[in-house]
Amino acid sequence: MNNVLIYTENFDGKFKKSIYEIASYGSEIARQLGGQAIAISLGDVAEGELKSLGTFGISKVLTASGDLFDTFQNLPYAAAIAQAANQENAGVIIFSASNIAKAIAPRVSVKLKAGMVFAATGLPSNLNPFTVPKKVFHGKAFADVVVGSERKIISLSQNSFGLREHPADIVIEALPTETSTASAIRVIDTQKASGKILLNDAEIIVSGGRGLKSADNWQPIEELAEILGAATACSRPVSDEGWRPHSEHVGQTGKIVAPNLYFALGISGAIQHLAGVSSSKVIVAINTDKDAPIFEAADYGIVGDVQKVLPQLNDAFRKFKAEN
Ligand SMILES: Cc1cc2nc3c(=O)[nH]c(=O)nc-3n(C[C@H](O)[C@H](O)[C@H](O)COP(=O)(O)OP(=O)(O)OC[C@H]3O[C@@H](n4cnc5c(N)ncnc54)[C@H](O)[C@@H]3O)c2cc1C
Repeated sequence: MNNVLIYTENFDGKFKKSIYEIASYGSEIARQLGGQAIAISLGDVAEGELKSLGTFGISKVLTASGDLFDTFQNLPYAAAIAQAANQENAGVIIFSASNIAKAIAPRVSVKLKAGMVFAATGLPSNLNPFTVPKKVFHGKAFADVVVGSERKIISLSQNSFGLREHPADIVIEALPTETSTASAIRVIDTQKASGKILLNDAEIIVSGGRGLKSADNWQPIEELAEILGAATACSRPVSDEGWRPHSEHVGQTGKIVAPNLYFALGISGAIQHLAGVSSSKVIVAINTDKDAPIFEAADYGIVGDVQKVLPQLNDAFRKFKAEN
């Protein structure tokens, strides 16, 4: 049971950075256990993309594609991952902390009788007993969770481990999926939000608060998002006022996000807001109040009027993009 199985979720056939991050993380745990890091990929992913996992220490990738795996479905996905864990004698199964993982990991946990830690923030601090760190109470405290079961499932918070290259020779093998994994659900159509980057997928988020003063002042925020290929978000009062849709609200009562770069524009940085964004890798804040709490959480801060600073920032980013 020294092997580690990593579920490498794909997005239209491509792996995101968070997947290479869990590959790095799972490989490190496998090294500590003296086992192999094995990935499982479901759905259509090109060979070159699968092989790219080798850069991060994966020595084997199991694949299953076809009708059953064309679109995400809980039951066949969970069954295939549990089957792969059994086939490869994996003692630890790793997921990213995505919405899809939230749907599948508990099912795999039941199938394998495996204890689960969701949204871990680092490597196990101890292998015996198996102890994994995670944030609790909306990021206000840390807990060390001891998993007593023989098998363990961990999902990793985005940006909490980073990418670590350990190039390995990688083999690709088909997983013979069992017919019993067939789902009673048939997906007949999928409609994707077009033209917008979804908050949970975004590597960069541009977020506005009450300091923007009205819905009419969002144009420079949307402009920055467009220049950077970012998603837009907002604080709760902004969505309560109806300036922006509720789907953009981040924080304790909204979406929890962990992008590489988070712009907090005209946002005070209340604890309930930070609960949803504090895992961002880099936070940039613009606020007129130099004592606003957001500056304590921010890596970079500009004290100034967002309506004056943002157009200049947009011009600078546009120029930089044109020149590079
Ligand atoms: C149970 C509970 C749950 C909550 N959940 C959430 C949540 O999920 N998400 C969330 O966001 N909030 C949440 N809140 C609300 C939270 O407490 C704050 O009230 C909210 O985050 C404040 O939003 P804000 O920063 O946009 O507005 P404000 O606190 O009004 O801050 C506006 C900021 O803009 C600055 N400003 C003003 N004019 C300008 C300008 N021209 N240029 C630049 N800066 C300017 C001001 O200095 C100020 O710092 C929750 C509250 C409770 C009680």
